[in-house]
Amino acid sequence: MHPAVRRLHDQAEEDWQAFWARAAGMIHWFRPWERVFEWDPPGFRWFIGGETNLAYNAVDLHVQRGRAGQAALIYVNERGERRVLTYAQLHHGVKAVARALRGLGVGRGDRVAIYMPTTPEAIMTMLACARIGAIHLVVFAGFGADALAERMRLSGARLLVTADVTWRKGRTVELLSIARSAVAQAPVERVVVFRRSADAPSLSGRELDWEAFLAGGAGQPDHVEPMEANEPAYILATSGTTAKPKLAVHSHGAYQVGIRAGAEWLYGLKPEDVWWSTSDIGWVVGHSYIVYAPLLTGCTTIAYEGALDYPAPETVYRIIEENGVTGVFTAPTAVRLLMRYGTAPARAHDLSSVQRVFCAGEVLNIPAWEWLQREVFQNRVPVIDHWWQTETGGPVIGNPYGVGLLPIKPGSAGIPLPGMAAEVRTLDGRRCEPGERGIVVLTRPFPSLTPTIWGEPERYGKEYWQRIPGVYFTGDSGYMDEDGYFFFAGRADEIIQVAGHRIGTIEVETAFLHHPDVAEAGVTGRPDELRGEVISAFVVLREGRQPSDELRRELVETVRRHLGPVAVIGDVNFVTGLPKTRSGKIMRRVLKAVVLDRDPGDISTIEDEGSVEEARAAWEEMKAQLEASEGGR
Ligand code: AMP
Repeated sequence: MHPAVRRLHDQAEEDWQAFWARAAGMIHWFRPWERVFEWDPPGFRWFIGGETNLAYNAVDLHVQRGRAGQAALIYVNERGERRVLTYAQLHHGVKAVARALRGLGVGRGDRVAIYMPTTPEAIMTMLACARIGAIHLVVFAGFGADALAERMRLSGARLLVTADVTWRKGRTVELLSIARSAVAQAPVERVVVFRRSADAPSLSGRELDWEAFLAGGAGQPDHVEPMEANEPAYILATSGTTAKPKLAVHSHGAYQVGIRAGAEWLYGLKPEDVWWSTSDIGWVVGHSYIVYAPLLTGCTTIAYEGALDYPAPETVYRIIEENGVTGVFTAPTAVRLLMRYGTAPARAHDLSSVQRVFCAGEVLNIPAWEWLQREVFQNRVPVIDHWWQTETGGPVIGNPYGVGLLPIKPGSAGIPLPGMAAEVRTLDGRRCEPGERGIVVLTRPFPSLTPTIWGEPERYGKEYWQRIPGVYFTGDSGYMDEDGYFFFAGRADEIIQVAGHRIGTIEVETAFLHHPDVAEAGVTGRPDELRGEVISAFVVLREGRQPSDELRRELVETVRRHLGPVAVIGDVNFVTGLPKTRSGKIMRRVLKAVVLDRDPGDISTIEDEGSVEEARAAWEEMKAQLEASEGGR
């Protein structure tokens, strides 16, 4: 192991509380903490009594330290618009929104829902809430009215800040009409509307225009509220597909320490960086690594509103070149999307400013990693997979590039980062041997880990700390190798059992991706009399490739070559898109419902409902074929 990484790990293992107390020195405190850590299971508190403010450290500090003129935020959208805000301009804007919030009577502890695309106004609203001690709840601006209403209800939001529209793939999405139906179900006191379209709708009743909202702040104070380390800065629903959303809670002090340390140790963020996280403020990656940590570090962060392949497949590469991006953070779903277009769009641009690329959200399948690492970046920079969740606030397992890059093992998310303690266990709590698949658990808290679920402390205990008593249950299945690298196999409840063998969905999907015609694959198990289960696969082909029975046979052969005869493929269904969450994760439970001819249940987080119908149609056709061939036997 790299000696600097080893040193940090040793320090953490010697005394993990003292280790995090040292890390807390990376951020500015108005008042030092009295005690480092208290664990009152299932909850815990860090840096007790310490006072800080997430937004103050992200914005004001840089202005005070002589960096007012540095670009804080570069906003770009798919329509080609671009705005740059310096730290001074961001500071000015955040203070104006803070006054406006206070003008509406919003203060410490109040919840503010934000249903906006990734724009400077949305980011200023997040920062302004944090500045005055209000708690923001961003709801991804792709969710429908029911999802928005439910999140507003669960959080008890007083105010909703929204926009009239956003643009995606050239289409106008009418956010305000969605927001209005949500407010009809979950009333809030006021609705602030940032109007941006030429024919903006007129407002009525409790609705307030953005300009009037700002004007209402005249004469209000804009001071920063000092916040105790454990006071919530924001609430955010996990992107999971459970019926009732789980609202993670992230705090001013503890969370801030965690994401700041992650910024340094994993991403190697420096004030000189031009950082682009291609996510959206609706997700935790957007909170921690579009907004908060890059600003805490004092670098320039890019906020992009739109689709990554619109107006053309070269959009991503053009934005990198135009802005001299030095670090990229993206997701496997984006990589697989770009892969469909081949490398020509990348070749047309100068990507030499990029120093490193990170990927999280799902497993970065080996073929996708190889494509990005070797073909797009021609092995010039490391492409690094890493693992975390909404609940963990920041990265947990990764390759600590910022401390010292370890050898990259394709298909692995890396090792537990300094201060993190992860293991693989069986459901009854036994530690798995290297190579043995089990549940990935975290054996102790760390500062950025959510200490509760908003309004449901018992659920937090039950779903995370009591499934395998005493450890945090991630819900992910995987194994650790002899060198301590973690390999994720899929969600624990999605494992497929073929003739007694447990096969991870990810392993099978990765095997499909080894075939050059495959852009994406999603698999699930379906009952089989003989073998318990066989694998049903839904496959998306690359641009210009045609489905055929011949290709089907080739794909089955490819999977067999990679995984051996245990991976029995029952059927291969060709589709043009997979059911995915709006954060881009393949929804295998929907595929399962399709092959079991069941209702898919709650699909409010799905990206494209048409994908379910398409999968169903493909499966119906396949089922008829299977029945015909069985009948003929
Ligand atoms: P979210 O809370 O939306 O950030 O989703 C967290 C979940 O995404 C994890 O529990 C994993 O199932 C999955 N995930 C995130 N990063 C990775 C990764 N690098 N490898 C495998 N799965 C990942």
